Amino acid sequence: MKFDFPTMMVGLSFVTILMALLSFCSWTATRRNAFLPPLTCAFLLGSVGILVAGLRPAIPTFVSISAGNALILLAYGFGWKAVRAFEHRSLRPAGVTAPAALWLAACLCPPFYTDPAARVAVMSSLTSISAVLIVRELWRGRHEPLPSRWMAIVIGGLHALFMLVRVVLVHDLPFPLGAGPGDLNWAVALPLEGIAYSTLTLCSMLLMERERAELQQRRAANLDPLTGIANRRAFIEAAENIWFDQSLRKGTCVAILIFDLDRFKQINDTFGHKFGDDVLILFARTASKVLGPKAVFARFGGEEFAAALQCTNPEQAYRAAEQVRAGFAEAALCTDGLAVESTVSIGLSVMDHHASLSTALASADRALYRAKREGRNRVEFQEVHVLHPEAAA
Ligand code: GH3
Ligand code: MG
Ligand code: MG
Repeated sequence: MKFDFPTMMVGLSFVTILMALLSFCSWTATRRNAFLPPLTCAFLLGSVGILVAGLRPAIPTFVSISAGNALILLAYGFGWKAVRAFEHRSLRPAGVTAPAALWLAACLCPPFYTDPAARVAVMSSLTSISAVLIVRELWRGRHEPLPSRWMAIVIGGLHALFMLVRVVLVHDLPFPLGAGPGDLNWAVALPLEGIAYSTLTLCSMLLMERERAELQQRRAANLDPLTGIANRRAFIEAAENIWFDQSLRKGTCVAILIFDLDRFKQINDTFGHKFGDDVLILFARTASKVLGPKAVFARFGGEEFAAALQCTNPEQAYRAAEQVRAGFAEAALCTDGLAVESTVSIGLSVMDHHASLSTALASADRALYRAKREGRNRVEFQEVHVLHPEAAA
């Protein structure tokens, strides 16, 4: 089969303009994704650049070489800007235009302009560096669990490698893939690779955007909007994970703590609802700090909170509860500059993994009622149900 290089370049340009259209249409849907406008520009510029650079006999050679390739490099600059926008970072115009400006400056030097090998090597190097910069941004954001991010990283990495191979084999590959003689049929690898890179990059970016929206929705559904800690739903899920985690069973038990702020209605009535909100935030902050990142801590609703933590014996859990109680009583003494005597009552149950989470929660709830009955601002144990000998020790 014979491939016609200029026809393939027109095909690549056409595909790239379709990518620009798709990117623009995705943006118009919500107009909120800041990465889509620069991505649309990247595809538009790329499409024009490919056409200008690829139709050399039909377009004056100097324009084709200098302007065509500069537009392609400008497209990479906008691609970099788009990925940075996706990662909530900005990019100055100098960063966007630097590769294209370098290219134009080089084209003004006759020894460079008249040397095809130098041109292919420099253009491929600048493209490879741009692709690496794009991959670097995606890599820096890898802590955000978006599966399609890895697809974008691999595609970008392969593209950078492809361009690097062109630099290394510049004298062996047929022009314009390299600057050597040979079968022009091979040069169609250039537009084919370009089609794969542009389509897969857009697909992975749009998938990443969808995955991010889903992740944010899932997180919002599990968070209490006032305090920013987990809500009841997330608590049950995470506490069950602790409960059923086989690796943690031996020698450990699980403590369930239920917290209820004392006479909270009075605080609202005296200082106002907004102030009450600040006290809730203060409690969430104090308890999170005392219990540490390993504990599951959540707002159950209203002025009621709960925690689940691994412990090796009931006394350890009691000490943690006591620390929260005392820590909050002290911290509340100066809330928003006001001396508030806000305290918390805590119900505690400690069970091993033979009991169920609902039993432990009911037991801690009964303990909480006892703490309220017996004067508030205290920790009460309702039940200790630990069968494991090491845990009971
Ligand atoms: P007790 O010591 O017996 O627990 O008394 P209490 O006043 O804390 O209990 P009660 O259940 O009578 O009142 C709870 C109050 O918590 C009533 C409600 O207005 C308030 N509350 C619930 N959610 C919020 C909230 O998000 N913000 C504020 N500021 N107040 C809330
Ligand atoms: Mg209550
Ligand atoms: Mg209360």
